[in-house]
Amino acid sequence: MIKRRKTRPVFVGNVKIGDGAPIVVQSMTDTKTHDIEATLNQINRLAKAGCEIIRVAVPREEDALALPEIVKNSPIPVIGDIHFSPRIAMLSLESGIHGIRLNPGNINDEGKIKEILQECKKRNIAVRLGVNSGSLEKRLLDKYGYPSAQALAESALYWSEFFEKVGFTNFKVSIKGSDVLQNVEANKIFAEKTDIPLHVGITEAGPKDRGSIKSAVGLGILFYLGIGDTVRVSLTADPEEEVKVAYQILQSLGLRRKGVEIVSCPTCGRIEVNLPEVVKQVEEKLSGIDKPLKVAIMGCVVNAIGEAKEADIGLACGYKSAILFKNGQPIRKVSEEEMVDELLKEISQMDIK
Ligand code: SF4
Repeated sequence: MIKRRKTRPVFVGNVKIGDGAPIVVQSMTDTKTHDIEATLNQINRLAKAGCEIIRVAVPREEDALALPEIVKNSPIPVIGDIHFSPRIAMLSLESGIHGIRLNPGNINDEGKIKEILQECKKRNIAVRLGVNSGSLEKRLLDKYGYPSAQALAESALYWSEFFEKVGFTNFKVSIKGSDVLQNVEANKIFAEKTDIPLHVGITEAGPKDRGSIKSAVGLGILFYLGIGDTVRVSLTADPEEEVKVAYQILQSLGLRRKGVEIVSCPTCGRIEVNLPEVVKQVEEKLSGIDKPLKVAIMGCVVNAIGEAKEADIGLACGYKSAILFKNGQPIRKVSEEEMVDELLKEISQMDIK
């Protein structure tokens, strides 16, 4: 069992982060934010896929001016992603937005940051305090020579103390290093010293396959250590993939259950059905299910009976056929041709809509 780090709560709109809440899945739109229609279409698709908080880029004034309409029509809380410009930050705060992301390191003006925080407090807007290896303060680069894990954690601790000193506590922190171990180490150092919730993710992880693996490795270590209150998987891919991968990682550690979990064997010389095709068809046909459902599809008797019994429903395959299991009990024998349809028929009778 994973023992999660004790953190204080932060609310982004009506979504609770920290204090034992389920790890919240976030993503970020890749549309031009000022294209309101495209941005809202993407937000709606992401919310349907399970995204619980959405972040939108706000690089220019026209993007900040689009926020009121986006916030008004978004089914999930919206965070504005703001870099460099205190002016754009202040303008965004007028939009009804639920949160903003700021990297103090790239604003680098304590007076301006204080003004933004005071405005956030007045409007009950949460902040994500971001520290990235690419925008570390000069004094830390001078001290450590490069953006080490220690330097990243020190920056996050410095700015957290600054936020609290000016009376602002409604924030979470993200610390993003350029490689997996640096990221893990920096988050670990910070987590040991505070109860501030952490937004975790492996930044710029890469394209879908490589990025998913890199994210699973890094996030797997952090989650195992109990670190992480909200997550974004960053992929060079459709943001819906980020949401899917985030849930798969959380699901594999028993931290969230959502949608279908397929347990299937890798196949070997004992296989006597076309298992990859069966798994592919089942995965495709069940992709729209939101409620947790564990489906086991096993190639032969070696592990099949046990796995199929552990699942909500399953197939234990043999020679050109399978035993269909439901709730741990064998219900009937089905041929290879009918096994997908029979499995889906049984699932359609279960309370999983
Ligand atoms: Fe091979 Fe059977 Fe194991 Fe599948 S379940 S990998 S077919 S031994």
